[in-house]
Amino acid sequence: MPASGPFVGRAEALARWPWLRELDWEGLAAGFPVHIPRAYVEGATLPSDPRLLTVLPDARESLVDPTDREDPVGDALRSPVAWGVRKHADRVLLLLTKRCHLYCRYCFRRNHEPGAADDPSPAEWAQLLAWAAGSGAREAILSGGDPLAVSDERLFEAIDALRATIPVLRVHTRAPITYPHRITPALVAGLAARGPVWVLVHANHAAELTPPVETALRRMVEAGIPVLNQAVLLAGVNDDVDALAALSERLVALRVFPYYLHHPDHAAGNAHFRVDPARGVALHRALRARTSGIGLPAYVIDLPDGSGKIPVEEWLGREAGAPKV
Ligand code: SF4
Repeated sequence: MPASGPFVGRAEALARWPWLRELDWEGLAAGFPVHIPRAYVEGATLPSDPRLLTVLPDARESLVDPTDREDPVGDALRSPVAWGVRKHADRVLLLLTKRCHLYCRYCFRRNHEPGAADDPSPAEWAQLLAWAAGSGAREAILSGGDPLAVSDERLFEAIDALRATIPVLRVHTRAPITYPHRITPALVAGLAARGPVWVLVHANHAAELTPPVETALRRMVEAGIPVLNQAVLLAGVNDDVDALAALSERLVALRVFPYYLHHPDHAAGNAHFRVDPARGVALHRALRARTSGIGLPAYVIDLPDGSGKIPVEEWLGREAGAPKV
């Protein structure tokens, strides 16, 4: 039967990537859903492909590491309302859904509890928007999950509810990279009409910047939407300076600013993606020698106490060479 539909199902995945046949697919998918958008893995055949390394389940996800954390960035410590997080006086974070088009295997928000809702109830949604609108914050970050996993109507409802009181709105989404067809002309026109809305995308490797992804990014940039990128430093995926430099060069060529390079957070099941922070700092220095200021992301860590992001070098200094996150 010919492959069809926007996602690659299990049977097709096992046929295309035979090394998956050894895996406990059900067990791994129960821990964190497996979603493989067909467009994202177009032409990906080798186990070393950076896209496959981050989208396909891996037996190492079932290993337990003593530094795993249930809440790696301290969201629960700073959540005064369901689906809302406030770590800074000037910013509020709204988690519009837990759903994503692609579940990145390294994700730090693997919070899909069996039986728990993946979306706010109508009462929680109303409470969340009222809380954020009355917060006095200068910036609201619409996140998730992926905020573009909700409908245009719901996204625009959130933006419209916040616009009157919060001057800077941000949409943090990986959809332009993982599911670029989501970036429709109607979505872009709606965001541009409600501007300024900043869009922060999430690409980790130049191999993800396929022609449909480039079309999606250009569509937003040409509509006047500021687009920035956040990458995560991932062992075996992009932890070499050539890969990081290639990503920055491609992003800059697309007029997307490489804003952050995140040190990986210690979520259960992602230990095989973690990079030693001192090595991360060395890689970042090497990248600085290879790229201009507009191609250089800040290398940051999101602290598990919920206090927010700081440069990894500063954090290493604080920890006096004994990093434990
Ligand atoms: S898109 Fe973001 S929230 Fe969703 S799985 Fe990937 S890293 Fe996690």
